[in-house]
Amino acid sequence: MSPAKEYALLCLENPLLDIQAEGDAALLEKYGLKPNDAILAEEKHLGLYEDLLNNYSAKLIAGGGAQNTARGAQYLLPPNSVVYLGGVGDDKYAAILHDAVKTAGLRVEYRVDPKQPTGRCGVIITDHNRSMCTDLGAANHYDLDHLKSPEVWKLVENASFYFVGGYHLTVCPPAIMALAEEAAKNDKVFVFSLSAPFIPQFFKDPLDATAPYWDYVIGNETEALSYAESHGLETKDIKEIAKHLAGLPKKNEKRSRVAIITQGTDPTIVAEAGKEVVEYEVHAIDKKLINDTTGAGDAFAAGFTAGLVAGESLAQCVDQGQWLAKLSIQELGPS
Ligand code: ADP
Ligand code: MG
Ligand code: MG
Repeated sequence: MSPAKEYALLCLENPLLDIQAEGDAALLEKYGLKPNDAILAEEKHLGLYEDLLNNYSAKLIAGGGAQNTARGAQYLLPPNSVVYLGGVGDDKYAAILHDAVKTAGLRVEYRVDPKQPTGRCGVIITDHNRSMCTDLGAANHYDLDHLKSPEVWKLVENASFYFVGGYHLTVCPPAIMALAEEAAKNDKVFVFSLSAPFIPQFFKDPLDATAPYWDYVIGNETEALSYAESHGLETKDIKEIAKHLAGLPKKNEKRSRVAIITQGTDPTIVAEAGKEVVEYEVHAIDKKLINDTTGAGDAFAAGFTAGLVAGESLAQCVDQGQWLAKLSIQELGPS
């Protein structure tokens, strides 16, 4: 196996501070939120954050899907293995993020925007449901100039694995495409997360532009169904959808694509182009041990991707993803 290389994994998405609290039906109704969803905030949602902090004793937790994945992967890999890119403000929320990533040993190269607040994600927990409402703030101002700046691009060139969270499609598709091209050109590994049902639904075109570059595409069952619907696939069968994703045209033909769809406690579906679909059972934990399922998917992606970086087999990568996800849902927040 190749010797460990520093910062072999480079991740890109939206660094956010989660403002998370136990809520109730009335709170969901007040802001017109579904119990289980992830959306971008509109004008009518902007009071939610103060409401959560003032009236629901919300906790502040470092968040952002791919940032959680990056922290999780760094947790499993040798020191100085993972670097994460995204946009933050210059405020107390950014300071909290800096502390959290430092604790995790994750290197970040943030684009700091002094005029924008750090992004926030309101997370309302009701039973085992979570409703997420994100105001991207400074994360929305990430740009290609930052990615292409000499210090950052050097990190891009050095890395052998890229992990991009689908949420970034709402922010800076050119940065995603630059990483995608770099991966295909140099036979590096490009991992992409579908992130949320609204991505295939409302960001279909930029999503489809990235598809030929996916070496691994990771999503959950609701994201897979949303993909199928927005792309006119006449099936709701997760295995069929995974097969379809794996079989989409591919730019770098030296690697065959793998699609991985998690389904909570139901088996994880793995489709590799040209092969039989494989199901991996989940060893569900006792409901009483579940603290918070926020970020189960991010943790899965972390374990899985760390496995890829370490050169593990596909089955071991899935197993490690499931193991880390299980660990994570027993903690508060995507720890
Ligand atoms: P997301 O958080 O994106 O919705 P999932 O809900 O599919 O993702 O969860 C991702 C993974 O987390 C699952 O494949 C599984 O390995 C693990 N997981 C989720 N819920 C449980 C559970 N109750 N017990 C054990 N593992 C779980
Ligand atoms: Mg789920
Ligand atoms: Mg997820």
